[in-house]
Amino acid sequence: PRSDAPPQETEENLRSPICCIMGHVDTGKTKLLDCIRGTNVQEGEAGGITQRIGATYFPADNIRERTKELKADAKLKVPGLLVVDTPGHESFTNLRSRGSGLCDIAILVVDIMHGLEPQTIESLNLLKMRNTEFIVALNKVDRLYGWKVCRNSPIQKAMKQQSKDVKNEFSMRLTQLYYNNREMGETFSIVPTSAISGEGIPDLLLLLVHWTQNNVLEVKVVEGHGTTIDVVLVNGVLHEGDQIVVCGMQGPIVTTIRALLTQHPMKELRVKGTYLHHKQIKAAQGIKIAAQGLEHAIAGTGLYVVGADDELEDIKEASMEDMKSVLSRIDKSGEGVYVQASTLGPLEALLEFLKSPAVNIAVSGIGIGPVHKKDVMKASVMLEKKKEYATILAFDVKVNPEARELADDMGVKIFITDVIYHLFDQFKAHIDNLKEEKKREAADEAVFPCVLKIQPKGSFNNKDPIILGVDVLEGIVKVGTPICIPQRDFIDIGRIASIQKNRSPVDIARKGQEVAIMIVGTNPEEKQKMHGRHFGDEDELVSRISRKSIDVLKANYRDDISLEEWKLVAKLKSLFKIQ
Ligand code: GDP
Repeated sequence: PRSDAPPQETEENLRSPICCIMGHVDTGKTKLLDCIRGTNVQEGEAGGITQRIGATYFPADNIRERTKELKADAKLKVPGLLVVDTPGHESFTNLRSRGSGLCDIAILVVDIMHGLEPQTIESLNLLKMRNTEFIVALNKVDRLYGWKVCRNSPIQKAMKQQSKDVKNEFSMRLTQLYYNNREMGETFSIVPTSAISGEGIPDLLLLLVHWTQNNVLEVKVVEGHGTTIDVVLVNGVLHEGDQIVVCGMQGPIVTTIRALLTQHPMKELRVKGTYLHHKQIKAAQGIKIAAQGLEHAIAGTGLYVVGADDELEDIKEASMEDMKSVLSRIDKSGEGVYVQASTLGPLEALLEFLKSPAVNIAVSGIGIGPVHKKDVMKASVMLEKKKEYATILAFDVKVNPEARELADDMGVKIFITDVIYHLFDQFKAHIDNLKEEKKREAADEAVFPCVLKIQPKGSFNNKDPIILGVDVLEGIVKVGTPICIPQRDFIDIGRIASIQKNRSPVDIARKGQEVAIMIVGTNPEEKQKMHGRHFGDEDELVSRISRKSIDVLKANYRDDISLEEWKLVAKLKSLFKIQ
C-alpha cells in the first residue's frame, strides 16, 4: 500500500475467522479439506499433513487468488481464514461446548447422491442450536451421470458446460433436498462442489469471504466499552451487573458485566462500532460483553456466572477446567519450548502435535494471542538451562515488533507459521544447527580414544616435532589428540598436529590402519619429550583423556563413535584412574 493511502480497516484489530467442516460420514469432508488446502500446501506434503496438524491457515491473498475468476473483488478485512482440520461434529461439539467457541462458521458437507443423511440433520440441529452460520457444500457433483470435468472452475461456469441431462439430474436432486428440508423453513447458502475435480471451490471460498465481511470479528477493544469479549450464550440468562468468571492466562478472572451488547439483528443496519445494549439476554445468542480485567481472557474457554447460591471458589476452579488439558502438557521438568497460538483450540492442536511420538518436543510454557515481550522473557529463561529450548513456536499469531527486537537481542528464536507441521521442521533444523555449532566449539576439548604402536623403523624424527609411523591398534586417531605414554609414568609427548596415510594428509584414521603422525609439543615452556630417550619403539602411545574430555565427547559426538570405541574410552578411563 502507498504510504499516503488512507488507513485501511486495520487488520491488527481483527482475528482470522475459524471455520470447521461437518457432515455425514463419507460425504467428502476430508477430501474437501484436502482440496481447499490444495494450493496452499506443497504437493506431496498434503497427505501427510492432514493427519498431523490441527488447522490450516489461509491468508487473505491466497483466497483472493483462488476466487479471482469469479471477478468479485474480495476485499478482505480479516487477515485470513483458519480451517480446523478435524472434520466431523465430534470436534465441533467438544470445542464448541466450552462456550465462546472455536468455530465462527461451518461448512456442512452434503453428498448430492445421498441427500440428507442422519448426521447431516444432527449437524444442522447443532449448528442452529449454537447459532453458528454455515454454508452447505453440495458435494460430489462430478458423480452426476455424464458430468464434464471443469477443473477448479466456478460452479456456474462448470454448469454451463454440462449437458441437459446432467442439469436436469442436478435440479431434481437439489429440489429433493429442498423438499426434504422444508420443515426447517429456512434458506441456506448452498454451493455445489466437487472435492475431486474442484468445481465450485472458488464459490465456496468466496462465500466464506463474504460472510467474514459481514461479520467483522473484533478481538478486543471496542471504542467506548474498553476491553470486551465475544461469547456465545448457549444456555441460561445473562444480566448487566452479573458477576462472571472467565479463564485467564494467570488464573481465573472474576469481574462484573458492565455492558451486554449485540449486533443489530438486521444486517443492513449494522454499522461498525454500534451495538444494541441489553439489560439481560437469553440463550442462545452471540454477545459481546464489556467488563473490566478481560485483557487476559482466553478465547475458546467457558464463561461462568456466579449465582446467589454459588461458591466463588468452586466456580473459579471450574473456569480453569478448560485450561487443564493444556496446562497438563507443560513439562514437569520446566525444560521445553514456549508455545503460542491465537486461541485455545489451535493451541491444543499444536500441543497435541508437539506431544506426538514422531515429534516429541517438550513444552515449558504457553501463551495465547500475539507474541509480546513478556513471552520472550519467559522463553529466555531457557537460555541458561537449555539453549535450544529458548524458542517460541508460534502458530497463527503476530509478533509484536518490540518482542521481535528483544528476542533478537537475547538470542531467543521465534518460529512462526501457518502450517503447524512446518514448526517441527524449523525447530529441528534449529537444533541441528546448534548441535553443529556446539561440536565445532567442542572440537578442541573432545579427545577421541586411540592406542598406537610404533612400527619397526617407524621413527622419522625424534623430537620437535616427533614423526612416527604407527599402527592403529585400537580406536580413532584424530588431528588434535593429545598423546601420552602410560608405561613411562604417563608422560605427555604432545598433540597430533597432522596425520598422513599413503603420503596424503588425513584428519582421521581408524583401527587397523597404518599412518604417519606428527606430534608437536603442547607446552612451549617445556622441552618436548624425545623418542629414543624418554620413550621407545616398544611403548604404546595412548590418547590422554580426562573427565572433561569424556563429557564433551558424550555430549557432542555420541553418534560418531562406535560401541567398541566407547569400550576403549572405558578402558582408558580406568587406566587413567578417572572417576
Ligand atoms: P468423509 O468421511 O466425510 O471425510 O469423506 P471422505 O473425504 O473420506 O470421502 C469419502 C469418499 O468419497 C472417498 O472415497 C472420496 O474419494 C470420495 N469423495 C469425496 N469427495 C468427492 C467428490 O467430490 N467426488 C467424488 N466422485 N468422490 C468424492
